Amino acid sequence: MADLAPYAVSESASRGRRHPEAQPAARSEYQRDRDRVVHSTAFRRLEYKTQVFVNHEGDLFRTRLTHSLEVAQIARTLARALRLNEDLAEAIALSHDLGHTPFGHAGQDALNACMRDYGGFEHNLQSLRIVDLLEERYGAFDGLNLTYETREGILKHCSQKKAPELGELGRRFLDGTQPSLEAQLCNLADEIGYNNHDVDDGLRSGLITVDQLEEAGIWARQAAAVREEFPSLSGRRLIHETVRRMINSLAVDLIEETGRNIAAAGIRTLHDVRGASPLAAFSQAMHAEHKALKHFLRINLYQHYQVLRMTNKARRIVTDLFGAFKEDPRLLPPQYQVMAKADKPRAIADYIAGMTDRYAIREHRRLFAVGEI
Ligand code: MG
Repeated sequence: MADLAPYAVSESASRGRRHPEAQPAARSEYQRDRDRVVHSTAFRRLEYKTQVFVNHEGDLFRTRLTHSLEVAQIARTLARALRLNEDLAEAIALSHDLGHTPFGHAGQDALNACMRDYGGFEHNLQSLRIVDLLEERYGAFDGLNLTYETREGILKHCSQKKAPELGELGRRFLDGTQPSLEAQLCNLADEIGYNNHDVDDGLRSGLITVDQLEEAGIWARQAAAVREEFPSLSGRRLIHETVRRMINSLAVDLIEETGRNIAAAGIRTLHDVRGASPLAAFSQAMHAEHKALKHFLRINLYQHYQVLRMTNKARRIVTDLFGAFKEDPRLLPPQYQVMAKADKPRAIADYIAGMTDRYAIREHRRLFAVGEI
């Protein structure tokens, strides 16, 4: 990759893969990681998993798949502008949501509650578990055998309790060091992605309105600029032009502020990046606006009664499924029955976490609805 900054992740300094493999012939190591993720089963399942809206509610809402593609696009832009490793940023972004349960955060919270006495459930750790263990695609090893740097980026958070189990990968959660800039930026690309598409999907669904959004400074500022430039614009075009500008202003601000932070901290190497405080950041003013937008979405969209009705149902579906399988693991598909012999609750969590929204709904019907088979 041409002209990387000296503090970018470079393939020649990679900490490698858990199972050593020959170098790829025509790709970089991080391109290979990306390709492995794109070809995985967990990646294809993202098409039928949702964050706020359940998959069958409409064809135009984001799914985790389209969200992951949007995050990858933003992350690549950020990485290229800062002369970081774009292939690595893309690989991290495309895998960042692999471990999500069906039904977004409601599903994860329910599964975590079911797993309370058995080590809990956390989607970041589950993403890592998928790429390290659960994908079955290679003769020589379990999982996808991704590079250390991609795995580090996938593991955004980790509790102090879990970190020691993860060896080298968990160490930074104990010693307070940071991941690569590519990983730090993917986190913020994720935030830019979901806040803005939740505005778009929220408006499309009719659960929030353009008038309400005037409360959110970042929307109000960009919408005013759009109206000034295009006084006759209305409807979808006004919304899309405003959202487009919000994404762009956040990305540009993030690139500039991160560049300033790198210079101010005198960062010269990747080692410096790991030892410094987090470098990827929005400016203070943008951070405040972005936070206000998140707050707006929480109050007006995520806690909207129609969304709460769905999340409540989602919680019930996940909890019922877990309870039924725990009571009688013979109801599990055969491969999970084998896994359940070693660790029953974890095998059930793996099975449920892998379900798409519609599969979970169907499975619930099969197990609980009288008259269904
Ligand atoms: Mg995400």
